[in-house]
Amino acid sequence: MIIIEGEIVMRIIVYVITAIAAFIFILVFAMMFSPKLRGKMMSKQVKSMKYMMDESKDDIQSISTNMADATKDGIETTTRAIKKGFTEEDSIYCKYCGAKIDKDSKFCKSCGKEQ
Ligand SMILES: [Zn+2]
Repeated sequence: MIIIEGEIVMRIIVYVITAIAAFIFILVFAMMFSPKLRGKMMSKQVKSMKYMMDESKDDIQSISTNMADATKDGIETTTRAIKKGFTEEDSIYCKYCGAKIDKDSKFCKSCGKEQ
């Protein structure tokens, strides 16, 4: 009698475990194929991300400020270099009259002398 009861308990446990495994399996499949469920999961993740962002707001702010400053400096340097390239490197001055002429030109546009 005791042995039979033990068998029944064992069977119930096996059934319960199987049911839980099946439930998890179905849940995983549902998450894979249901956009609604996935959306719920995503919103949870977004919420936790938001919380993390709030927690590290100050750090991120200082980092982004530093990055913005670095980017600003970089842009200014690049702009200056481009301006320099356009204004200075493509033009030289005539050896004889001092007129501004193109770097590649062989003769001065102003006095006509060879460079
Ligand atoms: Zn000249």
